[in-house]
Amino acid sequence: MIIVANRLPFQVSLKKGDLSFQPGTGGLVTSIRAYVESAKDTASALPLWVGTADVPEKKFRECVKGGSVVHEGYVLHPVFLPAKTWNRYYNGFCNDTIWPLFHYFPSFARYNEEYWQEYVNANHAFCGKILALYRPGDIIWIHDYHLMLLPALLREKLPGATIGFFLHIPFPSFELFRLLPDRWRKDILNGLLGADLAGFHINNYVQYFLKSVQQLLGYDHSLRTITTPDRIVTADTFPVSIDYERWSNAFLDPRVFEQRNKVKKKLAEARIIISVDRLDYAKGIINRLKGFELFLEQNPERIRKVVYVLQVVPSRDIITQYRENKKELEGLVSRINGRFGKLDWTPVVYRYSTLDFDSLCALYMAADIALIAPLRDGMNLVAKEFVACRKDKRGVLILSETAGASVELGEAIIVNPTDRQQIADAIVRALDMPIEEQMARMNDMQKRLQHYDVVRWAEDFLSQLRQIKARQESFSVREVTPAIEQGILMKYRDSHKRIIFLDYDGTLMPFARLPNLAVPDKKLLKLLNRLAEDERNTLMLISGRDKVTLDSWFGSMPIGLVAEHGACYKLKDGEWVFSAKQCSGWKSAVLQTMQVFNDRCAGTFTEEKTLSLAWHYRNAEKELGFLRSRELITALSELSASLDFQLYEGEKVVEARARGIDKGTTAAMLMNGSNYDFILAIGDDRTDEDLFKVIPGDQFSIRVGLVPGLAKYNFRRQKDVIVFLEKLVALEDTEREGPEVQEGDERSGQADPLR
Ligand code: UDP
Repeated sequence: MIIVANRLPFQVSLKKGDLSFQPGTGGLVTSIRAYVESAKDTASALPLWVGTADVPEKKFRECVKGGSVVHEGYVLHPVFLPAKTWNRYYNGFCNDTIWPLFHYFPSFARYNEEYWQEYVNANHAFCGKILALYRPGDIIWIHDYHLMLLPALLREKLPGATIGFFLHIPFPSFELFRLLPDRWRKDILNGLLGADLAGFHINNYVQYFLKSVQQLLGYDHSLRTITTPDRIVTADTFPVSIDYERWSNAFLDPRVFEQRNKVKKKLAEARIIISVDRLDYAKGIINRLKGFELFLEQNPERIRKVVYVLQVVPSRDIITQYRENKKELEGLVSRINGRFGKLDWTPVVYRYSTLDFDSLCALYMAADIALIAPLRDGMNLVAKEFVACRKDKRGVLILSETAGASVELGEAIIVNPTDRQQIADAIVRALDMPIEEQMARMNDMQKRLQHYDVVRWAEDFLSQLRQIKARQESFSVREVTPAIEQGILMKYRDSHKRIIFLDYDGTLMPFARLPNLAVPDKKLLKLLNRLAEDERNTLMLISGRDKVTLDSWFGSMPIGLVAEHGACYKLKDGEWVFSAKQCSGWKSAVLQTMQVFNDRCAGTFTEEKTLSLAWHYRNAEKELGFLRSRELITALSELSASLDFQLYEGEKVVEARARGIDKGTTAAMLMNGSNYDFILAIGDDRTDEDLFKVIPGDQFSIRVGLVPGLAKYNFRRQKDVIVFLEKLVALEDTEREGPEVQEGDERSGQADPLR
């Protein structure tokens, strides 16, 4: 396994000319360390960790032979970035652009081309390092917002590699994400889509990501799986967690307990509120302090009885916003202490320092209330650690609804972090909460955290990654080669009862500017007639077109027709049969919505069919047509929740259809009980995937275009379909005339690839 993160898991420094390693703090490092520790007995090799180190490259190389060093169960491979790159990549793009934007502080985000360039360069530097280390079979697990371009950079060079990506911060809603300049936002999304699995803390982040991909790149998704032009990628939820046992067991450590008692004693047995945050505007420390101030103002009887221990951990003080945040915070602490403090009592005990594990546990254990109210936080591990530490099941967690952890820790008192009154009320409620209630709430939260701890989180991610890799195989693109084609022809030749499903637009005929211009030409009609003439063949045209159009083109030919994606069908020489009930109320509402979009976007139009409505945007201005199609999908998705229709996307068309109708259902019904010994389905778009789904595994489905999907094979271009059908017909001719089909592969001694 190759773990890739911005930093190595140890702070590397030089001591007396030698390298010295201090364990890194921070959620990412501690989470992964716990997993690696748990897996060390079963792992076949030490994991590699690629990340930046704090020592200059020259010094590192003087101390270490080769580019890596083994330390505490890892092979560490440092990446060295020039100072200018580091500054613009890390302090610039990562923490002055992405961090504020992804934490809902768009006005703090700086859009600086130089930052972006160095972000690109840094991602390339990581890529180069990994390419030098990678061996087939390795799993590459990339972490966080510093390296969002890396998955695609690696994919380009290592198409078959297993690559996972996990984002440790929120993924913002589309309206925020789109604020990034167009090239950057597309490169970032495409970068992430280089992974096989993209992991996020909570479902909202996944949904925002999927929406951004859909809106900006046009890749559709189903069940959290995105179909890109050449692969499928999954996005899913994995709430990062903590090493539960370690935090929980601290309660039993006499040294830690002693430290806890000291804290309590120093604070003169007052009720203790704590918070632990890195200094960061997203943590909402100012709002929280104002909430505490309001609490003091409104509850004078609690003066001297409560102390707020505000533990702030130094962070990123090189960035202006952080320095200003610190100044404002310290001013506010002074104001509150000045306003309410007594000679023998200070309401806010402010500490600006980093605590070690024992001191942190002691603080968690001493607290009556943990007041964790970030304005925005990807997860917030402090909340989870506080809960885990309380083996006594005492204490109350106040948690903001905008921290990812609030999804799992619903038994906390949940507050809106901007609502000072709600924070003040929550403090009162927490102080007055009966012990039994505290214990019941703690108990439920602890059970959940114990069950899904950090080891489970990592295992869950990695096992999904492996499963997805296996699933991708069935979604892979497999172009029809001469050998495959020969195999299909032989099966065709040897069969006696065949059914052939052919989609029309994009399969038999190329797309035209307007649907009614894509009329079948004489050559095609002749070809289809020849194919249908063979009495062993049942030829079905299966299309999204309405029945009137299909009838006018093919009604006089000996072929079956399936119209409107399966809504009705007609067998050779038969009558039209409706396979679904007529449209109920939904059609007029959908038509109205589509018409609004026709007005909004020149060149689009609505095609009205018996059981469906199609909104075409092929002739609209490219970008606008695409954008409007996304908006239409959103508008219709809302309608479809209450009305009886389903939405489908085809090639530059959005279609609403009565529920339960698709090409697959009708095709399955047509095949049912007929013992066909040769089945072939050819189609070109998403609506044909339903058809491919019902074609038995030993038969043939072919999708036009090198697009991953359920079809067994792919044709590169539409005209390949015609060439192929001509070969089927020619086969019949040669059969009639006598000579045998050429069995090239068998003659050359190779096995038939399909047998
Ligand atoms: N932490 C620490 N020492 C401190 C304060 C915090 O080691 O003095 C650790 C804490 O245990 C937690 C992490 O820093 O694991 C903070 O993670 P969180 O998700 O709460 O916030 P982040 O800093 O990642 O935004």
